[in-house]
Amino acid sequence: MSDCLFCKIAGGEIPSKKVYEDDEFFAFHDISPQAPTHVLVIPRRHIASLEDAAADDEALLGRLLLVCRRLARELGIETGYRVVNNCGAPAGQSVFHVHFHLLGGRPMGWPPG
Ligand code: 5GP
Ligand code: ZN
Repeated sequence: MSDCLFCKIAGGEIPSKKVYEDDEFFAFHDISPQAPTHVLVIPRRHIASLEDAAADDEALLGRLLLVCRRLARELGIETGYRVVNNCGAPAGQSVFHVHFHLLGGRPMGWPPG
């Protein structure tokens, strides 16, 4: 999508601190980190939110989670990390290209705010 911030980041049109990329996914450091490690993992294909994913996206979303796990290991936070998806504005979603936050490097409270 031409006016989507994360499509532009994945396409290299807007710079980011890249952590990982492959044919399907792109991962980069959050511009406003909420933990010592805070990475965003996105599919290259534009899906606005988890609510907009289709049944066909089942395997893609599974692979996306495994990319989160792989990056947790590579970033050295595999003993404790959190994967977060904010779905919809009331839940805190501010960028409408589906993304998983990978957070680690500090103790995490529960319940989340
Ligand atoms: P959401 O609030 O939609 O769950 O998460 C969006 C995230 O994108 C926020 O944590 C925010 O800090 C991050 N973000 C917003 N704009 C940019 C940007 O231009 N570059 C990077 N790297 N992160 C961004
Ligand atoms: Zn997009």
